[in-house]
Amino acid sequence: MLQTLRRIVQEVNSTRELNTVLEIIVQRVKRAIEADVCSVYLFDKNEATFTLMATDGLNSDSVGRVHMSYGDGLVSLVAQRTDPLNLDDAQEHPKFKLFTSLNEERYHGFTGIPITHHREALGVLVVQSESRSRFSQDAVNFLVTIAAQLAGAIINAQASKQILAFSQQTVANNFTNIRQDHRPLIGQPGAPGIAIGKAVSITSSFSLNAVPDRPIDDVNNEIDIFHSALESVRREIKSLSFQLLSDGLPTEDVAVFDAYLLMLDSNTFIESTIDKIRAGNWAAGALRATIFEHIKLFSEMDNPYLQERVKDIRDLGQSVFNQMQGINDLPIDKLSKETIIVAEDISATMLAEIEKTDISGIVLKSGSQTSHVAILARAMGIPTVVGVNELPIMQLDGSQLVADGYSGKVYISPPDNILKEYARLIFQEEELSEELRGLANKPAITTDGITIPLYANSGLVADITPSKESGAEGIGLYRTEYPFMIRQRFPGEEEQSKIYREVMSAMAPKPVVLRTLDIGGDKSLSYFPIEEDNPFLGWRGIRVTLDHPEIFMIQLRAMLIASIGLNNLHILFPMISTISEVQDATNLLKRAFMELLAEGYKVEMPKIGVMVEVPSIVFQMRQIAAIVDFVSIGTNDLIQYLMAVDRNNANVAGLYNALNPAVLHAIKQVIDEAHKEHIPVSVCGEMAGDPLAAILLLGMSIDILSTSVTSLPRIKWMIRNFSQTEAQKLVTDALSMKDAATIKKMLSDRLDDKGLGGLIRAGR
Ligand code: PEP
Ligand code: MG
Repeated sequence: MLQTLRRIVQEVNSTRELNTVLEIIVQRVKRAIEADVCSVYLFDKNEATFTLMATDGLNSDSVGRVHMSYGDGLVSLVAQRTDPLNLDDAQEHPKFKLFTSLNEERYHGFTGIPITHHREALGVLVVQSESRSRFSQDAVNFLVTIAAQLAGAIINAQASKQILAFSQQTVANNFTNIRQDHRPLIGQPGAPGIAIGKAVSITSSFSLNAVPDRPIDDVNNEIDIFHSALESVRREIKSLSFQLLSDGLPTEDVAVFDAYLLMLDSNTFIESTIDKIRAGNWAAGALRATIFEHIKLFSEMDNPYLQERVKDIRDLGQSVFNQMQGINDLPIDKLSKETIIVAEDISATMLAEIEKTDISGIVLKSGSQTSHVAILARAMGIPTVVGVNELPIMQLDGSQLVADGYSGKVYISPPDNILKEYARLIFQEEELSEELRGLANKPAITTDGITIPLYANSGLVADITPSKESGAEGIGLYRTEYPFMIRQRFPGEEEQSKIYREVMSAMAPKPVVLRTLDIGGDKSLSYFPIEEDNPFLGWRGIRVTLDHPEIFMIQLRAMLIASIGLNNLHILFPMISTISEVQDATNLLKRAFMELLAEGYKVEMPKIGVMVEVPSIVFQMRQIAAIVDFVSIGTNDLIQYLMAVDRNNANVAGLYNALNPAVLHAIKQVIDEAHKEHIPVSVCGEMAGDPLAAILLLGMSIDILSTSVTSLPRIKWMIRNFSQTEAQKLVTDALSMKDAATIKKMLSDRLDDKGLGGLIRAGR
């Protein structure tokens, strides 16, 4: 059964049409568990009905014609129970409902498995038998596994059918009724703002599966791209095989590479891809189609050896694709103010290379509000939606989209009324920004006279002018890793010093907090790869730099040199989890300082701070506060580690919430303990830019808030309309509540009472 399962999964993964996927499933499953019938029913939420979408065994004329209301019959019962139902005689069950058009009178044994996605029923997989007996537990386990696979395929196919329907292409099957309406795809807000434009699908360094079809102008150029990628892979394979032979690997083990070369040179592979290019698809799309054809062919074979080759074919295809990428990476020439980038994910590096004016928005299948790419997009002011699970990247290229970075909704080929509504919102938003801009030179002072300095977060030198214009009173977090990420090697002391100096002199005498290199997690350097199973729990931030004092010392020296004569430097250590790390880092900083003094530089010792991102130091705050000059709470990571929720994982993003009472308790404890040592506390995570959360931070007596430039005006507006005394009362109430939703409601109601709700909602 395992073999069969693997084969079905492979087939499903290489098929893009939902009806074909369902046909494959019902036929293969029926055969594998020796059932007499296998059928799939899908649920239409709008109509609240289940529809028979595929069957092997029942009357196939009924496909698309048999509908059951929610609450009716066994299929519905299975979906409601969200639990498999295994019966020896379905007809005796009180919920059984006979559909004569199905010819199912003679079937008794019944197993129904719910097909669910994110806790919602998408449909039911049913097997039936003539005999009055239950299916075995093994069969049930097998069906549960298949149903889980099916959920992903259905989600993808539903989304792509929606596009077909909207683009008025032939809709020659039964499934279009599933999502023919104009319901948006749902993701999460990544960066505020609204983008209207044409999708440009980017495949970046991602899987061959995600390569879109894309029309081309120059067939010969695409054929050349394909040939040169093939040639590079050939060269790579030959040199690898030569290397392994010289390392002493037996010839027979290296023979697999000869097989690869044969495959690459095979006429069917090359000609089939070139035919597809000649038919008008770009090289990468043509390659994907050929590879999937081969995969399908091989996985249908009964020979286990040939089936195993499926993996090799996929790997080879991926290698050729990777080579093409070098040639065909970001389609810069296709980007414009009227385009929206659509991708599985894009690296922060890639984004850092794009100018804001190059694109209108970004829509990503992966990621969450606190992914670094979302943070960067926010800093650059590019409306972004992340975590759109159902995003059919491949089919979107060229479609018109509306990406709503406030609500996380993405409309595909929207009708006129939706387009008009969004155009109106864009207009309103510009008016609001105008109003907020008027606040730039006014202080962030509460109605009871408490001043909360607002700083800006940054990482790009290009951010500095907007930071100053927004009225920021300092840079509260300069993420130094971005300059590292856009280079091909570690930048040297002089190079770094120049960058830091530019930032510090632009802001002087206002303070600038430079954070030392925070790589690892989701920020990697191409020239210093870190491969780990759990990168967020691994070698990250200060752990890397303490292990590499040579890299750390260059950075510390560069920072100190950059601040000569300006003396507005604050140095912040990321990812601290123990007191000894603070001591070690401080000692290295002192060493750099002494070295520079000895070399004749007139450096001054900067203020030293620690990021509170790891829960362990929340509980040692008093001791830490006693040995540093300031602390800055990195709520993005603190929430991730407190809640055990990967900040980039859209599947668990619902659990990630700054208003969770546990998070609020932790933050309050940090502020209270640090204040006992009389040191200032700032928040530089994204929480500081969320107006609702910022009210609570104000009530907890936060000293500084550091946000992205785009959030800063709203936070200032909120602070100027609130008193700290009111905020303190809200904190007391919030800390006694049991969940984030209740706290959010209380805060929103409070803002509505004051007439501030509209603005705040528009901002998030
Ligand atoms: C944080 O973790 O809150 C933070 C500001 O750091 P980064 O987002 O760069 O990890
Ligand atoms: Mg962090």
